[in-house]
Amino acid sequence: MQDFHYKALPIDVYFGQGKSAQVQDILLEYGYRQVLILTTPGQKEAGELLSKKLGQISVGVYPHAVMHVPVEVADKAVEFAKNNDIDCCLALGGGSTIGLAKAIALKTNLPIVAIPTTYAGSEMTPIYGMTENNLKTTGKDTYVLPKVVIYDPELNLTLPAQISACSGMNAMAHAVEALYAENKNPIISLMAVESIKSLKAALPAIAQDLTNIEARQQATYGAWLAGVCLGSVGMAIHHKICHTLGGSFNLPHAQAHAITLAYSVHYNRHADNEAMQRLAEVLQVSSREDVGLAIYRLNESLGIKLALKDIGLPKDGPAKVARIVCDSPYYNPRDYNYKELKILLDKAYAGLPPA
Ligand code: NAD
Repeated sequence: MQDFHYKALPIDVYFGQGKSAQVQDILLEYGYRQVLILTTPGQKEAGELLSKKLGQISVGVYPHAVMHVPVEVADKAVEFAKNNDIDCCLALGGGSTIGLAKAIALKTNLPIVAIPTTYAGSEMTPIYGMTENNLKTTGKDTYVLPKVVIYDPELNLTLPAQISACSGMNAMAHAVEALYAENKNPIISLMAVESIKSLKAALPAIAQDLTNIEARQQATYGAWLAGVCLGSVGMAIHHKICHTLGGSFNLPHAQAHAITLAYSVHYNRHADNEAMQRLAEVLQVSSREDVGLAIYRLNESLGIKLALKDIGLPKDGPAKVARIVCDSPYYNPRDYNYKELKILLDKAYAGLPPA
């Protein structure tokens, strides 16, 4: 076995059906008594209900989280946090809401408690992202790592079918790229395999019945593990492409991940023998030649849109994305250049089977 470095993330995790009902006790245990609840506009009502439950320890709801954290939105939220007496940001929502909490934490050091309601995984990472002038940049800082995460699969029951499926595939993308990460290690690879297995089993069951709580629980477990993968090892070209699709074309994050993953994996199928064999095994295909196609077929069975053109990428998008990605090189187990990325993106644009 090769030497490796493994760094555990210091996050307290509470996991289970109905766990979010304990949020007040958990906040008090940590000494938080001036809690600002962050949500998207769409989850404002859920935030207000939570605020009522928290009573005196809630400072109120800030319902302005937006996907990809535009810098203007982040600046306003930071101002708001500085001008109010707050000792904790409670992010109730998906990656957009947790992203806004991270933007606040970065400038104020306020601790974050996260109650994730999608499968995006941001709650498990010290990574923050921000979008300015149509360019999304990411950074890493331990201050933005949530102190406490409460996973309650009951909160996913309201997640619509498309977002459930795509968000689950977004999580799977973290686990897949962790398998062939530059700094991969055997502990995270174990989590990655378990995550892919859980998501692969849970997502079709959720697509059949959005209220299947056992499947929701299994997907939440898979998403948690995927978040640990994302927070612990570096990602590869798939994540860089998706940042560009989101930051420069404002494509919905989870959908962009779900579609593109099949093509990124197919592109990398010969790059890391061990990783691809493990992936083939967990996806239950006979060879790594078929890993991309297996993900494509899984997307298809989940009713996910298969083409980037169908989620808003313009015709000149593949060329522009390929150029932006090549202009700021990123790790990938297989070398890439503009021409190869353009071919990958042209296929994803059209939604053709990767193999
Ligand atoms: P999101 O947070 O924007 O949520 C998508 C939509 O679903 C929103 O309208 C939201 O209000 C709604 N929603 C969320 N949960 C719901 C629920 N349970 N019921 C009903 N509606 C619900 O989307 P996302 O995919 O979770 O997050 C995307 C963002 O997160 C992107 O900006 C991405 O870059 C970022 N992200 C960051 C990291 C990181 O480590 N920094 C990791 C993953 C994603």
